[in-house]
Amino acid sequence: MSKKRYFPPELLEKAITKFDGSIEKYEIGRSVKGLPIIELKIGNGKKNIFMWSQMHGNETSTTRAIFKLIPWLLNTSQSEYLKTFSIYIIPQLNPDGSKLYTRHNANNIDLNRDAMTLSEPESVVLNKAIKRISPYLALNLHGQRTIYGAGNSGKPATLSFLAPSADEDRSITPAREKAMKIIIDIKKGLSKELPYGIARYNDVYNPNCVGDSFTSSEIPTILFEAGHYPNDYDRTIVTNYIFKAFKLLLKSLVKKSNNNSTDEYFKIPENTESYTDLLISNVDIVYDEKVFKKQQLAVQYLEKLDRNKINFVPIFIKFDNNLPYKAHRHIDLKGERAKISFILNGEVKNSKYNKLFSLKTNN
Ligand SMILES: [Zn+2]
Repeated sequence: MSKKRYFPPELLEKAITKFDGSIEKYEIGRSVKGLPIIELKIGNGKKNIFMWSQMHGNETSTTRAIFKLIPWLLNTSQSEYLKTFSIYIIPQLNPDGSKLYTRHNANNIDLNRDAMTLSEPESVVLNKAIKRISPYLALNLHGQRTIYGAGNSGKPATLSFLAPSADEDRSITPAREKAMKIIIDIKKGLSKELPYGIARYNDVYNPNCVGDSFTSSEIPTILFEAGHYPNDYDRTIVTNYIFKAFKLLLKSLVKKSNNNSTDEYFKIPENTESYTDLLISNVDIVYDEKVFKKQQLAVQYLEKLDRNKINFVPIFIKFDNNLPYKAHRHIDLKGERAKISFILNGEVKNSKYNKLFSLKTNN
């Protein structure tokens, strides 16, 4: 169970109130359900940076990182950045989804597949904002599930980045190149702390995705994905890494020149679907009235909102003699002669193993 993963509109309002008088705040539109969409502005420089978070309502780490970035920027020692940049932030593009802890908006639309259609009020708000701000860099802020690994490093993808493609050929356009070079600086800056935990997101061109759409309009855009760090189901550690990545990004932008080569970008390991939350070994499975002996069983945690907290509900995903997954936790039931009734994508219920399979968190 986590209290920190849930970041609803009420919490956003409280977080913003703390900076009343020190940052600019505007309501720039309303969600399907009529909730306000807020834009913040910090700094008065000539170069516009534009970022938006919680386009997917259940991806909250980057929003939490924004509220680490703002007080840090307001600290006088960062005044150079505030003179150089105007930073526009929509901390919660999808307030309805943020309230319900869902990826989609209230019309059940994935806003990151709506860049061409612009069928949703939230998509229109984002599109108008990008036209008005005309940023020299855009940050599309997201969070990803625990299932991703960083290539073959054997480590989970704690942070993943993408310089989205601008066309089917995935050409390295000037906008894309700029995004790639900045990503390399972030990766280098985190190389001691996260030597293996940084991955590169799939760059197949999809003009329905906002990052691809903006890049093809020659706006350099970086996709951030806050992922999993061992035992960090609260995502406190990754929130700090996102905050560090923001700082490294600003540092990269004020450099006189960026000599990184795009080859270095392609050397970043790819984000791969290689993990499950829990892998149980040596278990007999009862499935379809048959018994399968000595199996491996993969369990993933489904995040469910329950009274302002996120519960992690264990779900059976797959079983086999030998599953191809890495796991964030292993349990070997050898010797217990455990027999578990299996329901595909079903909750682990009424089992004496329920407690054993539950996630142990600090909160
Ligand atoms: Zn997302």
